[in-house]
Amino acid sequence: MSERWTPESWRAKPVQQIPEYPDQAALKAVEQQLAGFPPLVFAGEARKLKRALSKVAAGEAFLLQGGDCAESFAEHSADNIRDFFRLFLQMAVVLTFAGGSPVVKVGRIAGQFAKPRSAPTETIGGVELPSYKGDIVNDNEFTAEARIPDPRRQLEGYRQSAATLNLIRAFATGGYANLDNAHRWMLGFVKDSPQSHRYQEVAERITEALEFMRAIGIDPETHPEMRTTDFYTSHEALLLGYEQAMTRTDSTTGEWYDTSGHMLWIGDRTRQIDHAHVEFFRGIKNPIGLKCGPSTTVDGLLKLIDVLDPQNQAGRLTLIARFGADKVFDHLPALVRATKREGRNVVWSCDPMHGNTVKAASGYKTRPFDLILGEVKNFFAVHEAEGTHAGGLHLEMTGKNVTECTGGARGMTDADLNDRYHTFCDPRLNAEQALELAFIVAELVKR
Ligand code: PEP
Ligand code: MN
Repeated sequence: MSERWTPESWRAKPVQQIPEYPDQAALKAVEQQLAGFPPLVFAGEARKLKRALSKVAAGEAFLLQGGDCAESFAEHSADNIRDFFRLFLQMAVVLTFAGGSPVVKVGRIAGQFAKPRSAPTETIGGVELPSYKGDIVNDNEFTAEARIPDPRRQLEGYRQSAATLNLIRAFATGGYANLDNAHRWMLGFVKDSPQSHRYQEVAERITEALEFMRAIGIDPETHPEMRTTDFYTSHEALLLGYEQAMTRTDSTTGEWYDTSGHMLWIGDRTRQIDHAHVEFFRGIKNPIGLKCGPSTTVDGLLKLIDVLDPQNQAGRLTLIARFGADKVFDHLPALVRATKREGRNVVWSCDPMHGNTVKAASGYKTRPFDLILGEVKNFFAVHEAEGTHAGGLHLEMTGKNVTECTGGARGMTDADLNDRYHTFCDPRLNAEQALELAFIVAELVKR
């Protein structure tokens, strides 16, 4: 793949999962408009994240990445963003304090709209319609009209991403993330949950540590790391026309950055080496992720790494393993061994969600907490056996009290799923389940 790269060179390649827009003129007009809009993130921020991830690659930090499977236009609200951010901070504090490791924080947020689907159409009650492909493409409503890809949705996606990012930046730097607030991040409904006691203990220990610092004359207020936090955005860069429009040259280095998010990843269904997504990703300088599912071979992975990270730069490439709890041992050891043998400076992260989706008797897609936990434990066990660093966790989660995944300390059952099943795509861990997982992972990180 030595051909010249441009932000549009992907257009000459075969492409998977991109919608066919009936109105090409409207699509072109939207892409032109987007190309003139301000960047959402800056190249310098993406480089800072890459440096942080290089520490993860070196075994000196842990990556926490998570958020909705798909953000939606309908659920865009300050409350949802705040509840997500607060949960994320709680999890990061647990991992930092109980796990004893710096945590690199990356949300699946402010751009996570486009969804790959396992089938191009869906049939309900004998009616077959094109699949829903995320709010940035079409509408979830089950009508022929709603399912037509509409390019103007990309403008809405951009605006929502900008507004979400604006609030997150304010939370991250404007005082909300101050460690002095750790005990206040307790969510209302988590207060009387099985996790609340454990979290309150961590928060109290942090408060004591801060009081101790003050007592010996160190003012936490003068240390930015006490008052603010580095929080980055990420999404699956599936909709390449949108991503191309957001790709700009950085004025300081002259290099290309996709300014739609700090980190972008390639999904498990679009990682064909000679296809459009890999072509697009090889030219942008952001830190990137690559999902690795059961069809990933050692040879195929090493070839992809050659293309995506030819200079072997630590922090550039995060490999996100998502095999299914019972398949981790069949696939992961050989892949981890190969990257180690070849001296590849990659981050290995664990997505315990996408290989563990099952259909409940009630018909809902769900993910049992025990399988999610099982994949995480197996992931850590493989890295321990191979002498490599279990670098991170990639989760689908929400700060809301939804009922989408079964199990966890409250013992959610199939019968409970109907109560608050709100996801626009895959089932997410609710706040309690996510926090519970963070406590367990902190123990694994500490070892
Ligand atoms: C996702 O992360 O929502 C997703 C579709 O994952 P994968 O590409 O691993 O199936
Ligand atoms: Mn998903």
